[in-house]
Amino acid sequence: MAFDIDMIKKVYANMTESVDAARDIVGEPLTLSEKILYSHLWDGKPNKAFTRGKDYVDFAPDRVACQDATAQMALLQFMQAGKPKVAVPTTVHCDHLIQAKDGAATDLKHANETSSEVFNFLESVSNKYGIGFWKPGAGIIHQVVLENYAFPGGMMIGTDSHTVNAGGLGMVAIGVGGADAVDVMAGMAWELKFPKLIGVRLTGKLSGWTAPKDVILKVAQILTVKGGTGAIVEYFGPGATSMSCTGKGTICNMGAEIGATTSTFGYDDSMERYLRATDRADVADAANAIRPYLTADDEVYANPEQYFDQVIEINLSELGPLLNGPFTPDLSTEVGRDMTEKAKANDWPMQVEWGLIGSCTNSSYEDLSRASSIAQQALDKGLKMKSELGINPGSEQVRFTAERDGILGIFEKLDAKIFTNACGPCIGQWARYSDPKNAPKNSIVHSFNRNFAKRADGNPNTHAFVASPELTAAIAVAGRLDFNPMTDKLINENGEEVMFDEPTGWELPPKGFEVKENGYLKPVADGSGVEIFVKEDSERLELLEPFTPLGDTITGAKLLIKAFGKCTTDHISMAGPWLRFRGHLDNISNNTLIGAVNAFGKKTNFVKNQLTGEFAGVPDTARAYKAAGIKSIVVGDHNYGEGSSREHAAMQPRHLGVAAVIVKSFARIHETNLKKQGMLGLTFDNEADYDLIQEDDTFNFTDLNEFAPDKQLHIEVVHADGSKDVIALNHTYNQAQIEWYNEGSALNLIKKQNA
Ligand code: SF4
Repeated sequence: MAFDIDMIKKVYANMTESVDAARDIVGEPLTLSEKILYSHLWDGKPNKAFTRGKDYVDFAPDRVACQDATAQMALLQFMQAGKPKVAVPTTVHCDHLIQAKDGAATDLKHANETSSEVFNFLESVSNKYGIGFWKPGAGIIHQVVLENYAFPGGMMIGTDSHTVNAGGLGMVAIGVGGADAVDVMAGMAWELKFPKLIGVRLTGKLSGWTAPKDVILKVAQILTVKGGTGAIVEYFGPGATSMSCTGKGTICNMGAEIGATTSTFGYDDSMERYLRATDRADVADAANAIRPYLTADDEVYANPEQYFDQVIEINLSELGPLLNGPFTPDLSTEVGRDMTEKAKANDWPMQVEWGLIGSCTNSSYEDLSRASSIAQQALDKGLKMKSELGINPGSEQVRFTAERDGILGIFEKLDAKIFTNACGPCIGQWARYSDPKNAPKNSIVHSFNRNFAKRADGNPNTHAFVASPELTAAIAVAGRLDFNPMTDKLINENGEEVMFDEPTGWELPPKGFEVKENGYLKPVADGSGVEIFVKEDSERLELLEPFTPLGDTITGAKLLIKAFGKCTTDHISMAGPWLRFRGHLDNISNNTLIGAVNAFGKKTNFVKNQLTGEFAGVPDTARAYKAAGIKSIVVGDHNYGEGSSREHAAMQPRHLGVAAVIVKSFARIHETNLKKQGMLGLTFDNEADYDLIQEDDTFNFTDLNEFAPDKQLHIEVVHADGSKDVIALNHTYNQAQIEWYNEGSALNLIKKQNA
């Protein structure tokens, strides 16, 4: 059995006491989100009420999940922690490194050949440290988690932003960086700002062509890509309980697209049905025993405006199918209303080249069955496909069951490509073009979550639109972006006019789920004898060396780059082709800050090497300083490090000898990542001092030996002409974080404590 019912029962036993205590302390009825948060406090029972959007709180998540692209660095770091085993149940899922090209069998074989080194590494580390390992082809992390591990009222973190998918089964599930995951795996607290709460009341009932996907596409339209930032979105109302559990997962999944911390639903009959169908009757029984604790108090949903920071109401009976895109998931167009006009006005290609069904967002049995009802109609009504069709089942369990029930056979009769149970085109792992940069302008429709430029196929001219699986199937048959299956007729092979009937499907397989080989490898009970192999000359993997403490005297440091304007984690550590080096710190460091614009000259990856006077790339210049025993400094603008939570953006500069990053303001997660890697993340006390920094500057910290919480630091900036400025710098290090700095990294400290 993959999940741990004893752990879940323990969580529930604690939950009843903690929720009752929290209700007394807060002094009012509680939302579901608050119940879960207050029952997962690191310090045990609640003893104070937290201010939403303000207080930083230490939590104790129940689980951790990692996907193969992020797990590499997370596990490399965990290996340094000196722990014999992970402290909480953890799983690794191989889903990102499998390219979609010819179909599942060939593609999986190819991935196993090209990435065997990484897969073998992840498997052996998992085995050694008590981590459950899901092999390539076993499924997409979030579908596998929903099928096996998610449970109502639980809290988990995962090294992937769509970890939030598990909210469909009533969890608070949050995407984090690898360094955060390592803390929890090592048995430490995990810190989060107590979120604000957005309530979404769903009335009415979905019917016809409208699907759970349309609910989140509508929410994205209302809230936009930033509207959920710092908040948990809690769905409730009669429309919520009328939806399937996997449909709820779809809605929570795309909460990442509105910037929400996570999204969740209260425990209901659909969740109970899903738990029982996925062989977890004991979890359903345990949840039933504390049912009122797994949803908000009645008063909250009766008067939501009093208890949520914002309330949105959507009547599902009035909601129609939507197509969101291109290039952003919050740009909604109602099917059949204004797509023709909008496409013409914006020059969106009307012809649709591909329909893609899958991704962690929409690859459940219900999704495939509803889409297949459209595919079956195309066969029955003599319709020929006008676009190509690709399917990525969410897991081997879904794939096996869908094959057994004839669902995949229907797609195959339409010449659809059945790709591996993996992310595939959703993460750009799609060999669609040999030269994507110069590929033609075109439109595709998919049931994924993200539709940023180049995301699916690397072609900046691909216009990707997001829709439900059933609408994706219908548009793929019709081949037109403005096709409205509710009103438009198509001409079949006999020249007759035909129309689609409404899609139908099964919430759960009528004959139950079935799977022969689910792809799960249970770790051995005692992993102490398991050896981990990393080749000395590997270009994909490199064991980490502990960072050396920077010390309390930093003088003679050189400016590496003064970044101008937006500098996100993508500018600091690019993704795309660099993904393959995510497990090799030295190799991936060759992309450090190559996307950042140098304030002097406004070019990217072109900075002055003060030792030679010549200009070169940022990584080469940093390496030159490091080789000469000279530390370097990065200067930046506002919200430095926004975007993803990847710790590479901190580890790489650290590896290349950067001692301090001094900016006008930080994105919070990146600032924490810098602290965790034992660096100085500092902000200008006077933002205008950014303008004092010159290209040839040398830096001397004057009072680093007095580094203390709430105490400014000062740096002497020596300009090329010998003149000097002394600049005051602020920081947010608490005493524990100063210890990270003193030890060289948070990991070094954990290791020391274990020793
Ligand atoms: Fe991320 Fe797409 Fe994979 Fe989901 S399917 S985990 S969104 S890459």
